[in-house]
Amino acid sequence: MQKDKLPEVGTTIFTVMTSLAQQHNAINLSQGFPDFPCDKALKKAVQKRIEKDYNQYAPMAGVEILRKRIQKICQEHYGVHYDWEKEITITVGATEGLFCAIAAVVHPNDEVILFEPAYDSYAPVVKLFGGKIVPIALYPPDFQIPWETLKEKISSKTKLIILNTPHNPIAKVWTQEEIEQLWQLIKGRNIFVISDEVYEYIAFVPFFSVRQHSQLRERSFIVGSFGKSLHVTGWKVGYVLAPEPLTTLLRKIHQFTPFCVSTPLQYGIADYLTTHPDFYQKTLQLYERKRKLFLNLLKETRFEPLNCQGTYFMLLRYGHISTMDDVAFSQYLTKEVGVAVIPISVFYSGNYSDNIIRICFAKQDEVLIAAAKRLATL
Ligand code: PMP
Ligand code: GLN
Repeated sequence: MQKDKLPEVGTTIFTVMTSLAQQHNAINLSQGFPDFPCDKALKKAVQKRIEKDYNQYAPMAGVEILRKRIQKICQEHYGVHYDWEKEITITVGATEGLFCAIAAVVHPNDEVILFEPAYDSYAPVVKLFGGKIVPIALYPPDFQIPWETLKEKISSKTKLIILNTPHNPIAKVWTQEEIEQLWQLIKGRNIFVISDEVYEYIAFVPFFSVRQHSQLRERSFIVGSFGKSLHVTGWKVGYVLAPEPLTTLLRKIHQFTPFCVSTPLQYGIADYLTTHPDFYQKTLQLYERKRKLFLNLLKETRFEPLNCQGTYFMLLRYGHISTMDDVAFSQYLTKEVGVAVIPISVFYSGNYSDNIIRICFAKQDEVLIAAAKRLATL
């Protein structure tokens, strides 16, 4: 029998809860994906490229016009320069970018610091490459960074720190001061950073990207996803920005994982970004409106929302509605109330439970209204 490389890994909570939602015909506020269509012009742009026979392998690092577009957006939106040839790589969603970035720097017995709750795709990859997870737990209601603990946990073995801003599932946005504080702790050490910024355009408070920190960015991989910014999670087109030496390491792995990313999707996205340079304002306005709508709807329920600074997720406290733990309560909500949600304890490696669930508000207004009605029955 072959030894399992990831014995503690089962099926992701997103797959589990979406299947349960389908089985029980529940409104699915669990897995994070929009249930509304993307812009028609984006679909047309891709169709056009398919029709024009852009259907063979793309360049390994990504098509030139898409990388140049990302370079331009970085310059205009963040005021920073990343060279399209040497520092920008298109990946199969953020997930592949994260995989390659972790694989590029983690060697056996290296320590990798994760802030928990942590998105579920980081830890298995670290383990696959022999790294050891050093979790730093963040707790509600504010999920403050415990700086003293972080300082203690950084050691000569620390190779990588993974952060996520805006953060899934806690909806926290790191401040410029926090990014600077992180830099103060790691400067002078051989530590790399992965900043998962897939929700970069869904921030309801000022967003400071790690790419804007002139020193930290020299050690960092910044990971993005068009799935979130353009409402096409199923297309799986993402990107990684990193200084040339790190990009070289990343591409060595990327070239043997997918080699390259879907050609017509890359061209279509690039064309769309050219004709719709205001895409990120639209994305933000849309989710700002949906967040407000859902917050208003929640007033008719006994659920208590926690502060949502970014992402299309919101945490809800239910402690005065039920004493069930969050896994049991999420199943109960899905099966008995008809609303599927995600328990947040699964994003902690320890036995953490605080009667909090995560919902996704990237749903049509009428779906959010119907879900809130069901939640109001509790
Ligand atoms: N990171 C975070 C924090 C996410 O929420 C997601 C979402 N699905 C991903 C990475 C993966 O993004 P993609 O679908 O582009 O692979
Ligand atoms: N990122 C999405 C979420 O948090 C799910 C992605 C997935 O299904 N793997 O819900």
